[in-house]
Amino acid sequence: MQRLLLRSGGARLTASRLAAATYRVTRRSTHSGSILQFSDEVEAFRDVVSRFNNDLVAPNISSMDAEEKIPSTLVDALFETGLMAVETPEEYGGAGASFTAAVAVVEELAKCDASVSVLNDVHNTLVSTCVRKWGSEYIKDTYLPQLATSKLGAFALSEPGAGSDAFALKTRARKLADGDFVLNGGKMWITNGGEAEIFVVFANAEPEKGHRGITAFVVEKPWGIKVVKKEHKLGIRASSTAVLALDDVHVPAENVLGEYGKGYRIAIECLNEGRIGIAAQMTGIAQGAFDRAVSYVYQDRKQFGKFVGEFQGMQFQIAQIATEIEAARLLLYNAAAIKDAGGDFVKEAAMAKLYASQVAERAASKAIEWMGGVGFTREESVEKYYRDAKIGAIYEGTSNIQLQTIAKLIQKEYS
Ligand SMILES: Cc1cc2nc3c(=O)[nH]c(=O)nc-3n(C[C@H](O)[C@H](O)[C@H](O)COP(=O)(O)OP(=O)(O)OC[C@H]3O[C@@H](n4cnc5c(N)ncnc54)[C@H](O)[C@@H]3O)c2cc1C
Repeated sequence: MQRLLLRSGGARLTASRLAAATYRVTRRSTHSGSILQFSDEVEAFRDVVSRFNNDLVAPNISSMDAEEKIPSTLVDALFETGLMAVETPEEYGGAGASFTAAVAVVEELAKCDASVSVLNDVHNTLVSTCVRKWGSEYIKDTYLPQLATSKLGAFALSEPGAGSDAFALKTRARKLADGDFVLNGGKMWITNGGEAEIFVVFANAEPEKGHRGITAFVVEKPWGIKVVKKEHKLGIRASSTAVLALDDVHVPAENVLGEYGKGYRIAIECLNEGRIGIAAQMTGIAQGAFDRAVSYVYQDRKQFGKFVGEFQGMQFQIAQIATEIEAARLLLYNAAAIKDAGGDFVKEAAMAKLYASQVAERAASKAIEWMGGVGFTREESVEKYYRDAKIGAIYEGTSNIQLQTIAKLIQKEYS
């Protein structure tokens, strides 16, 4: 880890160090033929993540998958390198960089490991963003520095009976005479839930008002959040996905996030943005699988006296998937650019997530086929990309929910 920090400038990537790092960056050729020209700031982050992957993530991919755990030393290293506070302003200990930089970090991490990528994504694009956008001065001063430097965040919305219909949640917030709240209920499938210390929790204080009774709270784990179970999963196995219990969790009045009764709006806006993060994760998975398999067919494997990549039947498939990955990346950074420019990005975010998750599945599936028997075994971890890709069609809104969003907005445009 020390080596990595030295190579990335010797310290966390805060705003001032980022400026120095961007000065050293030379643009990469990978996107040279594309409309995508990333700022030096974004390229500096990609550079740091690429070295982080090589030094700290790649050697642990198989063991993390087998043990279903990301080592705490790796999470510490993400904090120490400054990758857990990409958009957080410098005054709170972050790099104060763009949303595009934040999703580029997610994409780059996912090329190597999708579990590390989603840990970073949920922490940055959901939790820190919620606190930054809707937190009072007290909440920002108290929690942003902790989220920037040491404490992992989780976003607790879903429940056993509230998935796609998220606002059917049953967790209740009872308001006390002094203005504080007591939360009771349970949450399901919460990413980072096993290790997180700071939770954004959604609960309904006035169920008779339906979704308008939902309020968001910033809750510290020691106040009573219990991890009931960690799920065993098909993919992103190292990422913790937890069932949580909240039994009489006392939350001070000042920990209401945003306005009382406006939790549903916070959840919707956060998830709209978060979907771009998942599109980044899926694009990274697709690229990671592609890079591994295409190197193999052109450099490692010969049949009939030729590298197997030289057969036209292989080349056309490779060309098809390369085109799809490029299209997914364009949708992804189009949505991110609209967001950074302050525009309305909801449809573009849904399109990016929907398409990138489909491409990730197809690319990982083809990568296995291109590597033949070796691809199907656990030897090369290419089958892991395939398992990791599946979640893209489920979390932060299933593919049907993305289609519903896109369709509604198209109907509005044409009605
Ligand atoms: C690994 C993992 C991590 C997760 N992390 C988090 C997290 O950090 N925080 C959090 O709050 N939640 C998290 N979730 C929950 C996730 O967001 C939900 O699983 C997801 O929203 C889908 O809800 P569901 O599982 O209840 O599926 P359901 O809503 O039961 O859907 C089942 C099927 O019905 C379809 N369907 C449902 N409604 C409609 C409709 N109106 N029109 C058409 N089709 C429909 C769906 O598309 C799907 O195919 C996570 C889930 C997983 C698996």
